[in-house]
Formats: sequence, structure tokens, C-alpha cells
Amino acid sequence: MTDGDVRPAVGLNLHTHLEGSIRPRTAAELAEAHGIPAPPGGWEDALRMREAGTLTTFLAHVAAAYPLFTTPDAIGRIVTEAVEDAASDGVAYLELRFGPATHAGGLSVGAVISAAVDGLTEGIRRSGMPAGLVACALRHHDPATNEEVARAAADRAGRGIVGFDVAGDELLFPSLEPMVRPFGIAAAARLGLTAHAGEAGTAEHVRDAVKRLGVRRIGHGIHAADSAEVIRWAADEGVCFEQCPTSNVLTGAVPSYAAHPIRRFLEAGCDVVIGDDDPTTTGTPLSAEFEHLVARVGLEPEEISRIHATSLKRAFCEDSTRAEVRNRLAGVATDGRAPQG
Ligand SMILES: [Zn+2]
Repeated sequence: MTDGDVRPAVGLNLHTHLEGSIRPRTAAELAEAHGIPAPPGGWEDALRMREAGTLTTFLAHVAAAYPLFTTPDAIGRIVTEAVEDAASDGVAYLELRFGPATHAGGLSVGAVISAAVDGLTEGIRRSGMPAGLVACALRHHDPATNEEVARAAADRAGRGIVGFDVAGDELLFPSLEPMVRPFGIAAAARLGLTAHAGEAGTAEHVRDAVKRLGVRRIGHGIHAADSAEVIRWAADEGVCFEQCPTSNVLTGAVPSYAAHPIRRFLEAGCDVVIGDDDPTTTGTPLSAEFEHLVARVGLEPEEISRIHATSLKRAFCEDSTRAEVRNRLAGVATDGRAPQG
């Protein structure tokens, strides 16, 4: 990217997955280099979900990328390119989450995390955009594996890893009891804490994640809107909801953009931030999410401004980075150059 390509900042991306961010062309190149057969219809079709379906079909498109996380070099490249792509989209700050244990077939969890951190460092160097990684425990992994992920993430706390999350199927694996110890390890290392909850599950799943895991950010959480009592409670508790409208439409969590409950959260006084969840799977990077929020969900400019301000406040970054991101959002180049666009 050259200076002439710099776009005005579109916002902070606080919920996006590495596995759903791989470039289809990179997928094809890595597959060829590692002898992985191309899926029928090619990588673009395997990775991209074009019509609304279910969470299961959505996750199958994301999982098509898993075999490509083969070596430290491959993992590093996928991370670097995800950072570059977000910067090219105009993102002011990126939190990129991934499940280290998913990719630890031939590598240790620590080696996967190190490779991702190396890729992040290179992406930041190339793009100039601040970014951090969030390590995900997975509901279907055994407790020992999730504790290993938490310990390896804690070892890199503040050095590439900024947060800890739990992802996976909350209907098949609703109990958060096995997550209490991993989240305790992450909390002790002062990692930012978030949890996917209330995406396919219920409003009570959201309250359960906040109470049991001590998280103050929730991935999706859109079913909290089904309960006036829970959404009021969440606002009082200062719970922040990371919302990803296009993903919610594609997984069938909501029937349409117009039916997305984001305004209910805002009106209840909840903190709301935005992510693009899996931009390769959805085809909608963060800039497109904000366009949909205005054109199809109907948010007003002051509501978008409030989301930006909330994102700055709730990002899992150091205050020095927050100041830099504030300038990027305002269109002020931190090296003293005039704003570009
Ligand atoms: Zn997610």
C-alpha cells in the first residue's frame, strides 16, 4: 500500500476471526505448496457464504480454512495479510482473534501463538495500523487444552496478545464451568476478557458468561435483546456487546438487517461495538458493515459516532495505543502528515 491509498478511518474492528479472514488466493497458494487438495468449486466458494443459512453452514465455510494453518510461516502470512487487509479497508485498530489449539496439530500451542504474534508484528510494521491478537478457548476442546491456550496466551500478554475469548457452539456445549479456570489464568495475566454468548443461545447465556467468567465484553449477545430484564441488567453492569450484523444475517440469527436488534441495545444504554466477524466468509469488511448499519439497519450519524467512542473506550489496548487510535479515527496522521483520503 502506498501513502496515496490511505483511506479515512472507518472505525475500530473489535470482533473478527483470523480463520474467516484468509485471502482465497493465499488459500490456493498454501494448499498447492502443502499438497492440500482444492475443494470442489475452488477455494473462493469453499470459504465464502453467499446466502443466509445456519450457524452450522456458516462455521463449515470458516472451517474450510483450518487445514491451511500448517506451518509457522503459513500462520504468520495469514495474520500479516489480515492486518494489511484491515488497514487497507480503513480500520483504525484491529483485534484479531483465533483458536490456537485448532491449529496445533503438528505444532505446540505456544508455537502457534508465537507464529501468529510474528505475523502480527510484520503486519503492523507494513501497515502502520495498531493491532492485537485475542486467543480463543473453544467450547468443544477439553479443559486441559483450553488451560494450555490460556497459559500460552498469558505468557505473551501485552506482547502481541491483548485478550482471551471463548468461541464454539454454545447450544451443543452450553456449560461454562470448564472455562472458569482458563479465564482465571487469563484474568491473572491482565488480558482483556470477552466471550461469545447469546449468538445462537439465549439471553441467560449472556448473563451466565458475565457472572461466571468475569467478562465485560460479549461476542454477539444479540439474544440478550429477547429479554428486557437481561438487557437492562447488562446496561447497568456495563457489559459491552460486540455486534456483527452481516454474520448474524448469514447464520440466520436475525432474518434481515432491518430486524437486527442493535438499536434496542443502544436505546437500553448498553455499550455496543462493531466487528466484521469473518470478512472472507461474509464478503463484508468493516467498512461494508458500517455502510449496512446506515443504509439497511437505519442507524443515525450520532449512533455511529457513539459506537466509535465506545470502541475506543472498550478496546483491549494500552492507553498509549488508544491515544494513537483516537488520532487515526479523527483522520490525523500520527507522524505529523496531513490527513489523507
Ligand atoms: Zn465471532
